[in-house]
Amino acid sequence: MSTLESEKQVTGWAARDPSGVLSPYSYTLRSTGPEDVVIKVWYCGVCHTDIHQLKNHLGMSNYPMVPGHEVVGEVTEVGSHVKKFKVGDTIGVGLIVGCCRTCGPCKSNIEQYCNKRIWSYNDVYVDGKPTQGGFASSLVVDQKFAVKIPERLAPEQAAPLLCAGVTVYSPLRHFGLKRSGLRGAILGLGGVGHMGVKIAKAMGHHVTVISSSDKKREEALDHLGADAYLVSSDVSKMQEAADSLDYILDTVPAHHPLEPYLSLLKVDGKIVMMGVISEPLQFVSPMIMLGRRTITGTFIGSMEETQEMLEFCAEKGLKSMIEIVKMDYVNEALERLEKNDVRYRFVVDVAGSNLNEKSSV
Ligand SMILES: [Zn+2]
Ligand SMILES: [Zn+2]
Repeated sequence: MSTLESEKQVTGWAARDPSGVLSPYSYTLRSTGPEDVVIKVWYCGVCHTDIHQLKNHLGMSNYPMVPGHEVVGEVTEVGSHVKKFKVGDTIGVGLIVGCCRTCGPCKSNIEQYCNKRIWSYNDVYVDGKPTQGGFASSLVVDQKFAVKIPERLAPEQAAPLLCAGVTVYSPLRHFGLKRSGLRGAILGLGGVGHMGVKIAKAMGHHVTVISSSDKKREEALDHLGADAYLVSSDVSKMQEAADSLDYILDTVPAHHPLEPYLSLLKVDGKIVMMGVISEPLQFVSPMIMLGRRTITGTFIGSMEETQEMLEFCAEKGLKSMIEIVKMDYVNEALERLEKNDVRYRFVVDVAGSNLNEKSSV
């Protein structure tokens, strides 16, 4: 039995075609049920994946598309079976809003690896309606796919943690690297990379940022708190750093050779891929054999890990670096993000924006 109205009219900002330009769009939320919560959206982060979806880079985009998968807001209604949340709670929603609940990954509470996962936008929900994301006044979500935002975390700060944050937290935790004294490196310093530095430092690691140029040295060392900076084209410095790292989080979403980085790993060291690269990567087998090194990849984190990561960040007082913008700036924000012209995450102040007001861009 549900106490919720069946459908609600909401305003979001949607792309209508692969130009990816967002503008106001009115639609109804899917029918709500006993396990669902309705959220009034406060903030939503802007992620690189949003650009790929909006511009149909993967060839699977459906329009109109309301993006946004780093959503933080307030619970305004709960279904009759909802135990996890109550009205007024601050909660978050990430990349996934559904799974099959019967497969191996689902039963092991790693639902992000369920082959029937439902994306929070550009997908079809179990009721046959398109899913729409967080650049909207409200959304409805099954309680399983929402997390509680700890009181000590500012809601706008929490938004980038829901995708970028858990993406780096999950492999460190899963591979037993969430302990102090390790030496790690972050390859690539964008939205995910900057979170990697912050979270690895909070775990007590010695953190090296590896970049293709010297441009971000001061930023990495002085502003993000990294311990070392390595330019990948500096052959002698790369040789000096050989066999020194327990892990590398590789956040670069473009084709690049793996050998130079594999050689930096200690015995049993791991390189964890987290950028989407569609071209095949190459390496010679001795690079992994002579050092028992691992090349692996992970994808966001489970709901359990997401909740744990939020508590961890709250406890450590971790702050992401964000630029808060209104919705009528979102098209410009997307353009700037595409050029990597942001330190490091745009977060849209959704509740503070007039969603019916068109962008001037
Ligand atoms: Zn994302
Ligand atoms: Zn499943």
